[in-house]
Amino acid sequence: EKKIRIGITGYGNLGRGVEAAIKQNEDMQLVAVFSRRDPESVGVEDKSVKVLPITEARDYQAEIDVMILCGGSATDLPEQGPEFAQFFNTIDSFDTHAKIPEYFAAIDKVATNSGKTSIISVGWDPGMFSMNRLLGEAILPEGETYTFWGKGLSQGHSDAIRRVPGVKAGVQYTIPIEEAVNRVRNGENPTLTTKEKHLRECYVVAEDGADLREIEETIKTMPNYFADYETVVNFISEEELKNNHSKMMHGGFVIRSGVTGAGNKEIVEYSLKLDSNPEYTASVLVAYARAAFKMNQMGQAGAKTVFDVPIGLLSSKSPEQLRKELL
Ligand code: NDP
Repeated sequence: EKKIRIGITGYGNLGRGVEAAIKQNEDMQLVAVFSRRDPESVGVEDKSVKVLPITEARDYQAEIDVMILCGGSATDLPEQGPEFAQFFNTIDSFDTHAKIPEYFAAIDKVATNSGKTSIISVGWDPGMFSMNRLLGEAILPEGETYTFWGKGLSQGHSDAIRRVPGVKAGVQYTIPIEEAVNRVRNGENPTLTTKEKHLRECYVVAEDGADLREIEETIKTMPNYFADYETVVNFISEEELKNNHSKMMHGGFVIRSGVTGAGNKEIVEYSLKLDSNPEYTASVLVAYARAAFKMNQMGQAGAKTVFDVPIGLLSSKSPEQLRKELL
């Protein structure tokens, strides 16, 4: 059977994770990695993989079934998403929640026109968590949904910090406030503001001579990312960052707390505990690449989200096999 041919655009944590995940899926093969950097300096793990300038990507339309876009959400994907949907079926992990409708519309216009299938905002949040929020609401219409993140390092937020002028390096931890979690698990259905649920803690390495107060202010007031939260900014040395903050663990939980019938309590929880956020996210992207390939073959073009993808398409197994083994 012919393998699904994958391209990777952007080789950071996620790109590296996609490369590793493809190796665990026998029905897929990696064709090439595309980067904005000099191919020599990209340092792709598997030396037998072709590394090419991003400007040459469109010449590979006939060789690539699905392009997995591994750029950052803040500035890379808003540009690369619509650009690549002209030429390829695409998968991305766009995670600026407030801008998803806008991003969807931009991609949908292009992909509908090109006849490609682009599944956007794939990963765990948005992604697996979104699916669980939807299930919670649809199945228990009377109730509340709660999402807690962490403790963990947030890729999207770290990415955003690193783009602040004067910042050399930095990481951000999201930390659930335990009292809030306990109240939810007890079925109290409390009303919690974003501030009451999580803390955001930043560890920042500033460039020499940078204005630390200005950096702190820019981070704390950044819309969509930090403005609605209690944010702590710590300035540390490069060495401290390397020694104490190089793990990319993450996780969290989605809880639906509802009632049925004569007031019976039903509490449903979906939880993730991840050693490697990028490697897990990449594994989700790769499963959805399979779905994008199949949907495109079925003629389903345009932008899609996880809500639009039948779950069976994620599997390499046939529907018959799935009914027998997993139903
Ligand atoms: P990185 O910062 O590691 O990579 C982003 C881009 O930066 C790469 O595509 C690469 O592009 C460039 N880059 C990487 N390393 C270097 C380097 N050493 N020097 C210069 N440029 C570099 O981000 P991540 O891979 O960790 O995350 C990407 C996005 O994934 C995040 O912004 C976030 O939005 C999303 N995400 C979504 C999740 C979800 O659940 N939906 C979960 C986790 C992440 P190029 O090769 O072209 O230079």
